[in-house]
Amino acid sequence: MIRISNIKVKNGSEASQYTNGVMEPEALSRSLIPVAAKALKIDAKAIADLSVFRHSIDARKKPDIFDIYTIDISLNINEKKALQKARNKNAQLFEPVVYKLPELGTNKMTKPPVVVGAGPCGLFAAYELACLGFKPILIERGRAVEDRQKDVENFWKTGVLDTTSNVQFGEGGAGAFSDGKLNTMVRDKDGIGRRALKIFIDHGAPKEIYYEAKPHIGTDKLVDVVKNIREDIKSMGGLVLFETKMSGLIMTDAHVTGVKVTDRAGNESVIETDTVVMAIGHSARDTFEVLNSEGVYMEPKAFAVGLRVEHPQKNINRSQYGVYESPTLPASPYKVVHNTSKGRGVYSFCMCPGGHVVNASSEEGYLCVNGMSYYARDSKNANSAIIVTVKPEDFGGEGPLCGVKFQRELEKRAFELGNGKVPVEYLADYRKKGTVKGNTDERKDWNTPCIKGDYVFASVHDLLPDDLKEAIDEGMSAFGRMIEGFDADDTLMEGVESRTSSPVRITRGEDLQAINTKGLYPCGEGAGYAGGIMSAAMDGMKVAAKICSERCPGM
Ligand code: FAD
Repeated sequence: MIRISNIKVKNGSEASQYTNGVMEPEALSRSLIPVAAKALKIDAKAIADLSVFRHSIDARKKPDIFDIYTIDISLNINEKKALQKARNKNAQLFEPVVYKLPELGTNKMTKPPVVVGAGPCGLFAAYELACLGFKPILIERGRAVEDRQKDVENFWKTGVLDTTSNVQFGEGGAGAFSDGKLNTMVRDKDGIGRRALKIFIDHGAPKEIYYEAKPHIGTDKLVDVVKNIREDIKSMGGLVLFETKMSGLIMTDAHVTGVKVTDRAGNESVIETDTVVMAIGHSARDTFEVLNSEGVYMEPKAFAVGLRVEHPQKNINRSQYGVYESPTLPASPYKVVHNTSKGRGVYSFCMCPGGHVVNASSEEGYLCVNGMSYYARDSKNANSAIIVTVKPEDFGGEGPLCGVKFQRELEKRAFELGNGKVPVEYLADYRKKGTVKGNTDERKDWNTPCIKGDYVFASVHDLLPDDLKEAIDEGMSAFGRMIEGFDADDTLMEGVESRTSSPVRITRGEDLQAINTKGLYPCGEGAGYAGGIMSAAMDGMKVAAKICSERCPGM
């Protein structure tokens, strides 16, 4: 196989006929055959197969925008000789890395492994365990994704929160009502990330996530993907229990021997097992408390807090692409970073092009926001979190859960500011720290929020501690110099963004087990080993592989 990188094609040209940034993968491969033939100076008929490995957009020379491809091709002529003749420094012989499921160990597992939490981490861990013949029991405190969808819609419509089924809890985890961005900083040396993408695609995700540099699924498609993965786990002998919360561990001599579970009606029971994959996400504060009180080792961890900002998507497109709209380009993302004069890093996070801000709360009396989008990314606004890293010394407390206390203080303030509705403020008012004018008559042409859930104009400038607010203020001005209009008066500031990652690490050893509790595998975002959908899924797969390499099914 030959890999050719850095193939540059003008966006909108014959080989690059995207519609809103999407092109059917087979059509794309066909359209790139003449381009690849030219790059290798061969007849197109010599190309037996072509697949796109990576696609990104280069807008550095706007108004000329280029699609940049890395492609893998097989030839029906001698590849080595063809390469020698072509003398193209971007082309080389190449062997793809394909992830191998582990060889099973010899230590028999007589009781099924229990996976706690059906977010991306738990779902992918359970899927891998099921693929290798272990019949996992997957327990999830929230409801099945189809029912959960109704609960979440109801919350956004009425403000009535279901604390067991919401944007954070329920099948699909925190990632289900999201933008479904699948990019990750985790290096994919062994191909586990490619396998994760393949699993998403096999269960209904759009095929282009396999090669897009910034892959995204969208909440509308994610719901079906999650349902399909669950049905596959069941078809391989796994058991999936909803509205079943892990309420404690049973341990003998620091080894797990079972999990206590509580159903929605409050009935308690025990599932015996010596293997527990703990994939509870960053919002399971009550479960952190249970594990802490049972002596499972954990420590506070840095995370980030800040505000969501909204801008008209067309202005972001204009700044990034040079045009407000183009039929061949997707809604543009952006990334901004600034180091403040006082040494704080302030940056954009979880940017959702053409998205919605969501009320993402999971506890009564506390409010937090996040961002989501549909596959089409066609809302009028772009949103992102503008956040600042906070460390244990900023939390103002002690013990492993002091970060949770810090989060709660901010979320309580946000709830009170908006009286349960998402507090919103125009940057013009936010900066003056005075009366909140909101969308008055003279501001009729100002941008308005795209928010799932009720919102109210309120003094968002009162939300964050002074040093964090200062950092964000300085960051917004700096970002205004990078992206025209980023600090315009009608920029919408919304809060509070407090669930960026886990405030806790449930520390594990090289064997991936909790350092003082054998048989307990803390993983994913909640345990502090992932940050995002892909890295959580990959971590779940990694833990499943570790278990399978030591054990074999004996149940
Ligand atoms: P989670 O997804 O949080 O899943 C944990 C699961 O465990 C939950 O379903 C929970 O109900 C369950 N649980 C907790 N405690 C218990 C218990 N005691 N018993 C049983 N079950 C329990 N990331 C991206 O990469 N791209 C994005 O575009 C993106 N957008 C996001 C948008 C929103 C609105 C939110 C909230 C998050 C977004 N994220 C995004 C972050 C991403 O969702 C998380 O990083 C990811 O879901 C973490 O996966 P996880 O499986 O580790 O944890």
